Formats: sequence, structure tokens, C-alpha cells
Amino acid sequence: MNKGEPRLSVLRNVLSIFTLLFVLFLLYKLATYRYQLEVPEIPYSTFYGELQNDNIQAVTFIEDKLRVVFKAPIMVGDEGSPKKVSTAEVLLPFENKDVLVNELLAKGVEIRVKHRSSIWNSIWPILPFVLIVVFWVALFRMMQQGPQSAISFGKARAREVQSKDKVRRVTFDDVAGIDEAKEELREVIEFLRDPTKFKRLGARIPKGIILVGPPGTGKTLLAKAVAGEANVSFFSISGSDFVELFVGVGAARVRDLFARAKRNAPAIVFIDELDAVGRYRGAGIGGGHDEREQTLNALLVEMDGFDPNEGIIVIGATNRPDILDPALLRPGRFDRKIVVNLPDVNGREAILKVHTRNIPLGKDVDLKKLAQGTPGFSGADLANMVNEAALIAAKKGKGQVNMEDFEEARDKVIMGPERRSLAMSSKEKRMIAYHEAGHTLAALLLPEADPIHKVTIIPRGLALGTTQSLPTDDKHTFSREYILSKIGTLLAGRAAEKLVLNTVTTGAANDLEMATQLARKMVTEWGMSEKLGPVTFGKKEEHIFLGKEIGRPRDHSERIAEIIDDEIRNIIHEQEQRIEKLLREHLPVLHKIAEKLLEKETLTGEEIRKILEEYRRQN
Ligand code: ADP
Ligand code: MG
Ligand code: ZN
Repeated sequence: MNKGEPRLSVLRNVLSIFTLLFVLFLLYKLATYRYQLEVPEIPYSTFYGELQNDNIQAVTFIEDKLRVVFKAPIMVGDEGSPKKVSTAEVLLPFENKDVLVNELLAKGVEIRVKHRSSIWNSIWPILPFVLIVVFWVALFRMMQQGPQSAISFGKARAREVQSKDKVRRVTFDDVAGIDEAKEELREVIEFLRDPTKFKRLGARIPKGIILVGPPGTGKTLLAKAVAGEANVSFFSISGSDFVELFVGVGAARVRDLFARAKRNAPAIVFIDELDAVGRYRGAGIGGGHDEREQTLNALLVEMDGFDPNEGIIVIGATNRPDILDPALLRPGRFDRKIVVNLPDVNGREAILKVHTRNIPLGKDVDLKKLAQGTPGFSGADLANMVNEAALIAAKKGKGQVNMEDFEEARDKVIMGPERRSLAMSSKEKRMIAYHEAGHTLAALLLPEADPIHKVTIIPRGLALGTTQSLPTDDKHTFSREYILSKIGTLLAGRAAEKLVLNTVTTGAANDLEMATQLARKMVTEWGMSEKLGPVTFGKKEEHIFLGKEIGRPRDHSERIAEIIDDEIRNIIHEQEQRIEKLLREHLPVLHKIAEKLLEKETLTGEEIRKILEEYRRQN
């Protein structure tokens, strides 16, 4: 719902530009129509002949032209297509019109004189300026993605969704896998359903609740479901809507939003992307008094301004609670925090169930297995995957969605669509096959490594080939052996290239980067280096939910930095040797896997395990 809106206003702007062009076109048509196009021009001689024949009813002098109305229509030979006309124009071949006028008077012709349309004469010179102004206004509107009219500037763009009746309400049945959050919100629903019950007891109900969690975990959905369950009005606005071009507009919108909610109480006011308005004050560029700060102040004032018993509850959502202004989290404001986490296996299964409710599933579809195969997926990712699977099945013309469609959809969600068309030489293909075979074999042989799920040399997204290993369940802690195996598996692609083809390629760059990163973390964060011991280095500043490092200021000496680098290099080097030895010992299997890959392009984990078993039986 929030996402549709910018697109709408772009559409509106495009439309208004088209309207403008259309109006201009009409004006042009009008101008040319009256004076040039419609009335044919005839030679002076023809006109004079008709005058002698007494066939002229009336004339109008328009500057050096004469418009003539005939009594009986005449034929005008216009380059082979003669036309019958009763009006025509004549260019006058002389300056002095007296003679002609006398003659016309003598014949009893009606005479009129007209100066060229004075309105047009005065409009043409200023038209460019008018156009510039119109364009400027249009541009301005576009820049601030304005509401429908200038008058509604300060009106909140909140849409009241699902008020009491209409539309299908979102309920708790649509939200799965985040049961703790749902449980915490039940009390709020009770209150909204019957505020008096709580008032009688003098219970204090929170005014503001903040939903905190990574993107796509269902925060927006949850807020809507609360409104749906409680059957109250729901006003939703996104924090970024508040931050406007004009100072003061955001604040006006906040006031309008709350005014409307109060008129419709009991109601929920949902502020999505709260961090957009709620950042630390004074942290913005441009000093202390910028637009965002005014908006935030207005929000604080409004939140303090209503009585909890008015039946309004403000729900905010953010994935950056770390940057919120502390004033927002003070008692009486957003003082209740509910964490919405990424779903675990059971949660994922429940979410898949919700989203496949209306989809005809094949008998082979096992949602539990799918849930196991999608660690780290958010609710939105899962919804996306289900939708993709349905699309894939529909494209194949099937009446139901099968497991293979889900598998394909998952790969697509993780890595982007297959790029079968990418041209590749057979030499390149061979190299990729060996590279992936290396990863695969390493994952197969190393202790603790995640089991192989699938290997392919079909390019997908940015990768030329992929080896997928899926953890058997969500892992929260990792052992030293597991990480070392992971590093080994990452290095194995390059090692295989080196071993068989006696060369290395740039294809391994990403693997190396990931392996190095893991090794660095082992040394600096997880205390897994023997030389340095259980100490962490570098103060970490991460986006809490995005998992991205912003910076890592150094808090140790030059000497320690050198040791860290040495340790990282040692880890990588050790693993490289271990892998090279392992691959050399299993060279026939490596060849076999690569061969099979070149033949079939995609191998499942089972097929690969079979290859290894066969080899072991023979030796
Ligand atoms: P957020 O606001 O946390 O970024 P949304 O509520 O916008 O996430 O989720 C986007 C979509 O993902 C929802 O409309 C829904 O289809 C799906 N989704 C996310 N989480 C869940 C969940 N827990 N249960 C069911 N569907 C979910
Ligand atoms: Mg959202
Ligand atoms: Zn690789």
C-alpha cells in the first residue's frame, strides 16, 4: 500500500504533462484553424469575375486579405480536386482599397472590416512566459511528489484503510511464525475492543508501541492485523512521507493525522519507517532546526497531547531502533517495544502454510522440507518464493504447483534468475565445472560441512556456477571446525582449478573474499586464534539488523595488527593445503563430478553422494 503511492504520483505528474501538451496542441490547432486552414484561397481574378456576375453576398476586410461569401457556391479547382465552396479568401494585390470598396458598394455587397483578432495578438507575445510558469509549477509539484492539490498540502497522506466494514480485513490468521509478538499485542486488541473495561479498572494502556525487526518480517502486516482483529480504524503513514521539501509541512501532516484519528477513535495510527522522522535530533545535516526535527517535535507533542483513554494507539515500525531519538522511547510515548524476529524453521513452515492457502499444491509438496531449506528467509522472502513458484508452474501450463517449482523459485529468490543464454566457450564451461566440483567434493569430505543440496554450472544472477549447501537447521553458534570446513570449501573451487587445469582464474575472487572475511572474524571477533587468544580487536559498529559494518576503528597496536594479518594468512594457508591434499587423494571423483556436471549441468546432492559411494566401493 505504501509502495503504490509514489508510483501513483509519478503517474499523476506524467498525466498532467500530457494534459499540458494536449492543451497546447489544441491552442495551436485553434489558431491555425480560423485563419488558414479551413477557408480556401482564390485568385483575385476569380473573385473579380464573381463580383461582375453579382455572385458576392458579403465581404470582410482582414488586413490585406478579403474574406468573401458567395451567393451561390462556386467551384474551386484545387490541384485536380475541385471543391464547392461558399466562402473563400482573396489576397488583395493593392494597398489602396478605395476603388474596390466603391465597386462593392455599387454592387450592393455587404462590407465589414476586422482587425486581426486582437485577443490573439496580445496573447502570442506572452505565451512563452505563461508556459514557463506552468512548467515550473509542474516541476515543483513533481519535486515534492505533491498531494492532489496545493490546498491539501498540510493534510496527512495517511489513508484510512479497513475502517470498520469494507475490504477484507487482515487478521492474526494472516500472520504466522511470530507468535510472541502476536501474544504481546493481544492486550492492545482487548483494549481497543472495549476501552471502558480498562478505564474502570484504571489500568494504564500503552500509548505507543514500537515494532522492531529486520525488513520483511511482517511488522506492517502485524499492525494491520491488530486493527483488523480489534475492528477499528487504521491510519497508516510512512515516516518518509513526513519529510518534506517545505519546512512545516511535515509537522502540519502530523497534526492532521492525529486530528483525524481522534475523530475516528478508537483507532490505530501506524507510522512505518519511524526512523525517517525519529532520528537523533541534531544529527542531521544543516544544523539543528531542519524540517525533520520540526516534524519529530510535532509528533512528540501530539503523543503527549492525547489521553490514553481516548482509544488511540500509535504503532511505529523500524528496522533501525539504534538511531531513534531517545525522546521517542520515553514513558508515555513509544514505551513498549516488541521485537519481530526472522522466523525459525517452524515459523517458516507456518508462514508457508498461510501463503499457500489458496494455491493448489501437488502431492509431492512438503512444506516442512521447504522450511528447512530456507534458513534466513524473512516472511516477505517466503511470500515472494510462493508467488514465484506459482508463476513458474503457471508458465509451464500446470494446474498445480510442485516441489520442483518451489525449488526453482527458491533459487531464483536467493540468486536471481538463471541466465541460460549467457554465451560460454567450452573451455570456460570445463573450468567452471571443475571449480564447482571442487567446492562440492570439499563439502562432501570435510567434517561438519553443511550437506550439499545442489550443484549447477548454469549461470544464475552474477554467479557463473553455484554449489548450494544447506544447513540442516538454523545455526546460531558455529564451532571452530565448522568454520574451518567452511573456509576449506570456499577455497576448494580455486584449488580444483589449480590441480586439474594447472591455472587459476578470477572466478574465485568472491570465494577468496568470503574465506578471508571468515578467517578475520575468527581472529578478531571469535577469539579462535591460538597466538592471540580469546580477545576481540576493533570496536564494532554494525547496523544492528543489516549486518553491515560501518566502520571498525582500530583499538590495538601496529604490532598486534601484524600478528592478526599473519594469523589470517596462516588459517587460509593451512586450509588451502588441507584441501589440496584432499582433492589430490580423490582426483578420480573430482573428474567424475566435473564430467557429470558438463553432461547434465545440474546435479542434486543425492547424485553427488552416489558418485562418491561408487568410488569408495571400487577402492
Ligand atoms: P515489514 O513491514 O516488517 O518490512 P511486511 O509486513 O511489509 O514486512 O511484510 C511484507 C509481506 O511479507 C507481507 O505482506 C506478507 O505477505 C509477508 N509476510 C511477512 N511476514 C509475514 C508473517 N510473519 N506471516 C505471514 N506473512 C508474512
Ligand atoms: Mg513494512
Ligand atoms: Zn566458487
